[in-house]
Amino acid sequence: AKTPVKVTVTGAAGQIGYALLFRIASGQLLGSDVPVKLSLLEIPQAIKAAEGTAMELDDCAFPLLRGIEITDDPNVAFDGANVALLVGARPRTKGMERRDLLEANGGIFGPQGRAINEHAADDIRVLVVGNPANTNALIARSAAPDVPAERFTAMTRLDHNRALSQLAQKLDVPVSDIKKMTIWGNHSATQYPDLYHAEVGGKIAAELVDEAWLRDTFIPTVAKRGAAIIEARGASSAASAANAAIDHVYDWVNGTPEGDWTSAAVVSDGSYGVPEGLVSSFPVVSRNGRWEIVQGLEINEFSRERIDASVRELEEERDAVRALGLI
Ligand code: NDP
Repeated sequence: AKTPVKVTVTGAAGQIGYALLFRIASGQLLGSDVPVKLSLLEIPQAIKAAEGTAMELDDCAFPLLRGIEITDDPNVAFDGANVALLVGARPRTKGMERRDLLEANGGIFGPQGRAINEHAADDIRVLVVGNPANTNALIARSAAPDVPAERFTAMTRLDHNRALSQLAQKLDVPVSDIKKMTIWGNHSATQYPDLYHAEVGGKIAAELVDEAWLRDTFIPTVAKRGAAIIEARGASSAASAANAAIDHVYDWVNGTPEGDWTSAAVVSDGSYGVPEGLVSSFPVVSRNGRWEIVQGLEINEFSRERIDASVRELEEERDAVRALGLI
């Protein structure tokens, strides 16, 4: 029998957590033959709600679920963890300055990074979902010097999936006909969804749509989709965010399909002029359990400008957390 994989979820009692945990326990995160143990990390006031979710998990009688632990202590939650989904974060509230937001999140992701450094399993893989995700990942990674940098990632898979879906609808093709979509940069309004490398039935997507649609409709629709969902639903996206987290980890562990790639924010090695160390989204493939940045793509002027703008924002966030002593 396989030993269970320990999956730690922070902010487990939140909306995304509720959409995520049942799918992890049913085998969709790692595979239908991989038993899992769940560790739910929450702040003390949300422990009771997490206990309620755990009761529902019990009531599903998932054959792969081999245990649930609930704690408010990161040292316990990350002890022996193989996969960490960092969902809980301090959201920006009205009137909050960016400095306060970064500082509050430094207080969450610094200690979590340290706990991962000290207690997680050697094969730990971290996905940061809680916003500002890229910079929260940077903070956690800086607090975990003994963990290889490549194990820290942030989620742009939801943006990637949104881009696939918008393009599929525009061209009236199934999503599965589209390959090589890329989200570059920050998971924020400056992100750049790139159609100059995406392929639809072997043709370059940018050549199948007019530039005005690409520039004035496609890019802003993908980048502002989160706000549109809040407007329509009265609550932020949760099931689609959870779905993207599942996709990200599944591909990381099991590999991306031949002839395609996906998007993930990974620690930059300097590729495409993105300063080393920034957690920025790239086109990536997963091979042998590791993300690799797709190399050698030609970047046109239109794309260069937009990638640079998003990377500049990441540099500003990095400089701000550095000035606060958080990295
Ligand atoms: P959600 O579960 O809806 O969201 C959690 C985080 O995911 C937020 O930071 C949110 O950012 C982010 N996120 C990233 N991408 C998306 C996306 N595409 N759509 C929506 N959200 C996205 O928040 P809840 O408030 O329901 O739950 C948060 C939980 O985290 C609470 O239970 C709280 O107690 C807990 N928490 C736990 C901590 C810990 O374990 N130490 C620390 C802090 C909080 P954004 O707000 O920008 O949308």
